Amino acid sequence: MIAKVEPLTPARSLRGPFDYLLAGALEDVGVGSMLVVPFGRRRLLGVVVDVAPESELPPERLAEPIAALEADVPQSLVALGLWVAREYVSTPARGLALVLPPGTGTGAGRPLRPKRSLRATMTPAGEAALREGARMGAKQRAALEALGGAPLGAAALARRSGCAHSTLRSLERRGLIRLESATEAPRRARIERVRASAPTVALTPDQAAAFEAIETRLAEAPDARGATRTGGRPLLLHGVTGSGKTEVYLRSVAAALERGRSAIVLVPEIALTPQTAGRFVERFGERVAVMHSRLSQRERYDEWWRMRRGEARVCVGPRSAVFAPFDDLGLIIVDEEHDGSYKQEGDPRYDARAVAERRAADEGALLLAGSATPRPESMLGYERIRLPRRVDGRHLPPVELVGMAGTAGPLHERTREALDQVRRAGEKAIVLLNRRGWSNFLSCRSCARVWECPNCDVTLVLHRAVEVVSCHHCGHREHAPRACPDCGSVSVARHGAGTEQLEQELEELVAPLPVFRLDSDVAAAAGVATVLRRFDEADAGVLVGTQMVAKGHDFPDVTLGVVLDADATLRFPDFRAEERTFALVAQLAGRSGRGERGGRVIVQALDPAAEALRFAARHDADGFLEAELRRRELLGYPPHGHLIRVVCSSVEPGPELDAATAIRAVMSSAGVPALGPAPLFRRQARHRAQLVIRSPQRAPTIAAVRAAVEQVAARREHGHASFAVDVDPQ
Ligand code: ADP
Ligand code: ZN
Ligand code: ZN
Repeated sequence: MIAKVEPLTPARSLRGPFDYLLAGALEDVGVGSMLVVPFGRRRLLGVVVDVAPESELPPERLAEPIAALEADVPQSLVALGLWVAREYVSTPARGLALVLPPGTGTGAGRPLRPKRSLRATMTPAGEAALREGARMGAKQRAALEALGGAPLGAAALARRSGCAHSTLRSLERRGLIRLESATEAPRRARIERVRASAPTVALTPDQAAAFEAIETRLAEAPDARGATRTGGRPLLLHGVTGSGKTEVYLRSVAAALERGRSAIVLVPEIALTPQTAGRFVERFGERVAVMHSRLSQRERYDEWWRMRRGEARVCVGPRSAVFAPFDDLGLIIVDEEHDGSYKQEGDPRYDARAVAERRAADEGALLLAGSATPRPESMLGYERIRLPRRVDGRHLPPVELVGMAGTAGPLHERTREALDQVRRAGEKAIVLLNRRGWSNFLSCRSCARVWECPNCDVTLVLHRAVEVVSCHHCGHREHAPRACPDCGSVSVARHGAGTEQLEQELEELVAPLPVFRLDSDVAAAAGVATVLRRFDEADAGVLVGTQMVAKGHDFPDVTLGVVLDADATLRFPDFRAEERTFALVAQLAGRSGRGERGGRVIVQALDPAAEALRFAARHDADGFLEAELRRRELLGYPPHGHLIRVVCSSVEPGPELDAATAIRAVMSSAGVPALGPAPLFRRQARHRAQLVIRSPQRAPTIAAVRAAVEQVAARREHGHASFAVDVDPQ
């Protein structure tokens, strides 16, 4: 047999698959096996992507693999990894790296193997020798006696009987014991819990109806490795905030397990949504593998094997969990499906929601996406199930829009009043400002110098607590200035308020109530779960932070939600600006009024008449989606068309623009028009130029872009440019 092997190398130029001859011990290697293969004078790690009876190469040119590794990947995942590589204009090695055991990478590092340890077992001959008092050394006898009936780890046996490893080996040679290597039980990963109690509750009528619809679809799905592929439409669980979507997910996973199928639950980021992940662990215990961002490589690897062996049947994790190594997948859930974190930012720039669609269709699994603010894409393409009411029957909180024109300081008068009421009543509030740090830029009052990042065309943000100014695009940091280096003036003005400054302002306003800040600065230091738990356990207080505070948290006693600068997102030139703004406001509003005291929401904006805000204030997701879909259809934007972004970059100015222009020329001669090149702001010390391709046809457009980029990248004259292709940019 011939194995077609894709080498796991980061080099874009080395493109397989290459043929290798399978013989002898490697005869049973199949698709998904990992091999060490000779390649010229090197050895490479590779994945078998196909097997064939014969090769086009003459037999004398065919090499044999050097070894097979223990890890093998389900065949369907090999296909999925290769699909990702094609769909997102990446390399097969990078696509395959997504589906391999964690730590395998693109072959640069050594793959981990399961740790093996020796186990000792008594043989019948050993038993007889003990019984009959055969001649043997005292150490050997002690070891045999210590071993007794049950197998024991060799290290433990040596310790207990006080003998050396060599004693065990001589017992083995005499046939009195057997020494075998066995895979160690993997270590379990732990996940921090935030009030994750998940008692089995009776479903509300809405939940019951939703679950029934899901169960019906699960029943239609073919059996594991079944013959029929329904390829049914994905389901969209559109439930208002607090409608009990998580309980429906839990039941659906249980139903899939009952049918003997595994399930994947995608969540935005476990660190940000510890409650949801905790509920799954609580309900399904050891059967859950949690792919947490804080896991060590080793723990990830162990979880991968628990799934691969079928010990874990449910995988809960962020976007990469869509590649969980199940070969009997029945259900994929995408929780908070509107969340931007489902898109990977590095190559391959895949969208886990699109990968989930593909995987579900290929493996005959049901895809269930859920949100209170679904994307226009899923609204159009999925079959919708509604949860129109909150579980407790409470109304969604009233939302008040206030204009900030003429207001000095970050808080509107109405907001101050509302916060004061929270203080007097000893209640809880959540305040969202999507800007971290103290001030978002500094300028010199005498010479007007502005502090900018040396690597990017953006201003540096002041973080007062640590006395640094830092760039939020590349991480550049320097000491906060005391004086202007240009003119020596000590009068430095701070503009714009971030979460750090707001925290102090709120502390003064609501004292003695505690204020808890949650943004990525705090998250890095204290951990998100810790902050959320402190806020949860406090009797009263204010949680202030970036969009992190608007994720699906469930705190029953929050009576006030506030969004500051709600239309900041609308000021970005991005076709998703409306969608983002709507989702952010609606999600934050959903955190308020989940308890007996009810709640309310104040939204501050420069332009409170903006349509996205008005829809959010009315909790009118349907109205918003309808208007948004109409707008997108007119403009040919997703989901009514496909977008591809090509970004060329270079250290010196010039090559990036030349490269983008060349790509546009190649594309236009292939009959695919591209918009641009448009310069982007310099980022991470690279000048950038962008092309945008918009087309109703997906596959041929992706193919045309790939061909054009490959062609231009191969030209010597563009050697100084780098290329990044983003299909379905977010
Ligand atoms: P969503 O994700 O839709 O915003 P959650 O799943 O967080 O809502 O549920 C909100 C709250 O309602 C949670 O505290 C949950 O435990 C509770 N809950 C869910 N279903 C029920 C039910 N059938 N009966 C009582 N409480 C429920
Ligand atoms: Zn100055
Ligand atoms: Zn920078």
